[in-house]
Amino acid sequence: MTIKPCPCGKTPAEIAVYDLNQGGKWAAAVPDCCGEWMIEFRTNYLNAESDECKQLALDAWNDAPRNPALKAEMYDYIRTLNPRQFTDLWTRNVSGEGAFDELLLKMMGKK
Ligand SMILES: [Zn+2]
Repeated sequence: MTIKPCPCGKTPAEIAVYDLNQGGKWAAAVPDCCGEWMIEFRTNYLNAESDECKQLALDAWNDAPRNPALKAEMYDYIRTLNPRQFTDLWTRNVSGEGAFDELLLKMMGKK
């Protein structure tokens, strides 16, 4: 099963389970990319080391909302670009100036 990207922009290679010391009821799904983002999830009292619990962590991570309001705003903004502006943005991304979303957010004045 694939792991969805982190809001930091990287795609984690692994999602670890951290017991939150709440009697085993809740744990955190923690990606190995940045340490800035984690998703809390219900463990159903599974052992944090078990494969079932790791699967729950992965599901929680992949199902987490990734700021859909901002995504919609970005999509709306992209649609207002003319082909030349869009090509410029795309070219800057491909030439390694930054992640597409980062460059777009800068253009939108959100970064
Ligand atoms: Zn990250």
